[in-house]
Amino acid sequence: MKVVFLITLEKMDSFPNQVDSHDDLVFDCPECHQNLIVKSVAAGHAVACPHCGHSMTVPDAPKVVTLSEAPETQQLQSLPTWKQELLSTESAWRETKHQREEAGNAFKHHSSEANRLKLRIEKLDSKLQDLELRRVAIKREHPEE
Ligand SMILES: [Zn+2]
Repeated sequence: MKVVFLITLEKMDSFPNQVDSHDDLVFDCPECHQNLIVKSVAAGHAVACPHCGHSMTVPDAPKVVTLSEAPETQQLQSLPTWKQELLSTESAWRETKHQREEAGNAFKHHSSEANRLKLRIEKLDSKLQDLELRRVAIKREHPEE
């Protein structure tokens, strides 16, 4: 190892604004899972995590998504407001549709269960009637107590 590149480590509070989107790689320390930001030229080089001291190799570019390439970043930053609204509306629509389908499935499940119970109740009612008729008939044939 010739050069260990100094990691520029920032808390990711204002993420992603403080990341130079063209030149930085963002990845997680495999040990302490802190976000690490390094210059993309550091890919493949050994570095030590400033948080926990864990030694690791900076992932090559294909393994990480540079922020400029992250689709959501591009969407959120470069799209007009109406388009952002459209995307979030569509996202909410999909989520709501998913919930609707879950509720529908649960309703179907409980409906068929309810129907099954209804049939059972009808059978039991019918059986109760038969038993009651039988009891009355026996008592009528044998009036003595
Ligand atoms: Zn670490």
